[in-house]
Amino acid sequence: MTKKRRLLWQLYPSYLLITVISLAAATWFATRSLKQSFLEQYAFDLEARAHLVENQILKGLLSHDQKGIDLLCKKIGARAATRITVILPSGKVIGDSSNNPEKMDNHMDRPEVIKALTGGVGISTRYSRTLQQYMMYVAVPLRNNSEIISATRISITLTAIDETIKSIQIKIAIGGVIIALLAAIVSLLISRRISRPIEEVKKGAESFARGNLEYRLPISNSEEIGSLSETMNQMAAELHERIRTITRQRNELEAVLSSMAEGVIAVDSEERIINMNQAAAEILECNLSEVQGRSIQEVARNTDLQNFVSDILSSWEPIEKDIVLYEDGERILNGHGTALNDEQGKTIGALVVLHDVTRLRKLENIRRDFVANVSHEIKTPITAIKGFVETLRDGALNRGEDAGRFLKIIEKHTNRLEVIIEDLLSLSKIEEGADKSSIPLYKDHIKEVLQAAIQACQVKAGPKNIRLELSCNDELTANINPELLEQAVVNLLDNAIKHSNAEGVVKIDATRKTDETIIHVRDRGCGIEKQHLPRLFERFYRADKARSRKLGGTGLGLAIVKHIVQAHGGTVTVESTPGIGSTFTIHLPCD
Ligand code: ADP
Repeated sequence: MTKKRRLLWQLYPSYLLITVISLAAATWFATRSLKQSFLEQYAFDLEARAHLVENQILKGLLSHDQKGIDLLCKKIGARAATRITVILPSGKVIGDSSNNPEKMDNHMDRPEVIKALTGGVGISTRYSRTLQQYMMYVAVPLRNNSEIISATRISITLTAIDETIKSIQIKIAIGGVIIALLAAIVSLLISRRISRPIEEVKKGAESFARGNLEYRLPISNSEEIGSLSETMNQMAAELHERIRTITRQRNELEAVLSSMAEGVIAVDSEERIINMNQAAAEILECNLSEVQGRSIQEVARNTDLQNFVSDILSSWEPIEKDIVLYEDGERILNGHGTALNDEQGKTIGALVVLHDVTRLRKLENIRRDFVANVSHEIKTPITAIKGFVETLRDGALNRGEDAGRFLKIIEKHTNRLEVIIEDLLSLSKIEEGADKSSIPLYKDHIKEVLQAAIQACQVKAGPKNIRLELSCNDELTANINPELLEQAVVNLLDNAIKHSNAEGVVKIDATRKTDETIIHVRDRGCGIEKQHLPRLFERFYRADKARSRKLGGTGLGLAIVKHIVQAHGGTVTVESTPGIGSTFTIHLPCD
C-alpha cells in the first residue's frame, strides 16, 4: 500500500517545483535572448566600423599599396581594440591588425569572407585557431564602381561578451534564488491555506466516525470546502436525529417488551434468537444477556417449543399451541407464533409470544372438577330420595313401620342436600363478597368470637366428651368480620371434634405476633396423610372419603375456611401427623 502523505506535502513540493522550473526556464530564456541581442548589436557595430575604414582601404588598394593597407589595419585595430583584416577576392590576406599577412593562409574558405565576396554581409562566430579564442567575424564587400575588389573583415573576441553575459547571469541567478525563496514561503502559505480547511473537514469526519455527531465543522471561506462542511454538518445532524429516533423507538420497544407479562421471543430464519424479553428468559430459565445469537434448541431444552418455532417458520398462518414445560412442577404455556416476513414476503424469522396459562388451566380444571363434584354429591342423595319415594308409592306407604323408616332415610338425605346447598351458598356468598371487597371488616375482640364458636360446637363435643380449651388474651383485637370468622373457627372445631376420639381435647389459642394475629386449632385426632395436605382446602376434597361421608361431611368446610380467611387478607395453613393430630392455623394481618 502506498504511504499516505499529508495534502500539504503533496501541494507544497509541486508548487516549489513549478516555481523553480519556471524561474530556471525564464533565466535560461532571458540569458539566451540577451546573448542573441548582444551578438546582433555587436555584428551591427562591427559592420559600421568596417564601413568607416572602407574609404582608406579603397585608397590603398587603388594605389596598390598593400603595405600601407596592412599598416592602416594595425593602426586602426590597435586604436579600436578590434581586429581588421583585408582579403582580396582571391582569398589572399593583404592586411591584418594582429598578424603578418604574408604568413596567413588563404581565407577563401571562411564563410563570412565567401558571403562578403559575393556581395553580402557575412557574419560568423567561431573559434580562431590564429588567436586561439572565440571570435565574431563580420565581413563586408568593398566595391570599386560596383566591382568587388576586396572584403573587409572586422572581428572581435567574444570573451568580453561572455563575461558581460556571465555577470548578468549571476545577477539573474541571485534574483532568481531570492524570488524562489519568496515563492517557497508564499507557496507554503498558499498550500497551508488550501490544506487547512481540508484538514479541519478530515478532523470533523473522524469525529463523526467516532460517534460524536454533535460536533460541527467550521465553515470555510472557500465555496467548495464551505459547502462540503455544510453538507457534512447537515448529514451529521440528520444522522444524529435518526439515531436518536431509533434509540428512542428501541427503548420504547424494550420498555414495552420488558413490562410485558407474556414471554416474547424473536428468532431468525436459522432459529437463532434475535431478541427476547425478561418474561421469556424467566419462563425458559436462562440469562437474558447470554441468549442473543444462540439457537432456540440451545436455550429452550423443550422439544414442544422447538417444534413450535420450526412450525411457525414453515407456516404462512399464525399458529397457536399449548406447550407444557416441566420445571419444579408442570407449567402450561399458551404460545402464539407468527412468521416475520421482509418486503418481498420472504420469511426472515418468527415471533413467539408465550403466555403462562398454568393458573388459568388449573382454574378451568377446578371449575370442571367442581361441577363434576357438585353433580356427584347431589346425585347420591337425590337417587336415594327418588328410590325411596318410588318404593313408598309402590305400596310401602301402607306398611306403617317401613314407611316411617323410609321417610327417615328420605329426611336424612334431604338434610344432607340442604347442608350441601347451604355450604355452597355460603361459599359463593363469601367469594362474591371477597371479589367485590364488600365484606365489612372492623376492629373487634378475638376472644369473643372464639367463645361464640366454642359455644356453637359444644353440642357436638358434648356427646363425645371432648374438652374444648381456649387460651386467648381478653384485649386481643384484629380487623375482622366476627360472623364470618366465627363460621371459619366453627368449621375447624367441627372437623377437630369429628376426627378426635372420645374424651379427647381440642385446644384453641390466639396470639399476636409482630405483624399478624394467629389462631391455632389443635386436636389429637387421627391426623392427615402428608400427600393430602396441599389439596386439603380445595372444594369437595376429602382426605378420607368414606369416613368423611359417614361423618356427614360435605368436603366444603375447609374451602369455606380458606375463603373467609382470604376475605380477611390472611392465610390458613395445616400441619398434621397421622395418628398424632392436626393443627390448623389462621394468620390474620395486623393493621
Ligand atoms: P368435610 O366436610 O368432609 O369435613 P372439610 O373441607 O371440612 O370437609 O375437610 C376436608 C377433609 O379434610 C375431610 O374430609 C377430612 O378428611 C380432612 N380433615 C379436616 N380436618 C381434619 C382434622 N382435624 N383431622 C383429620 N382430618 C381432617
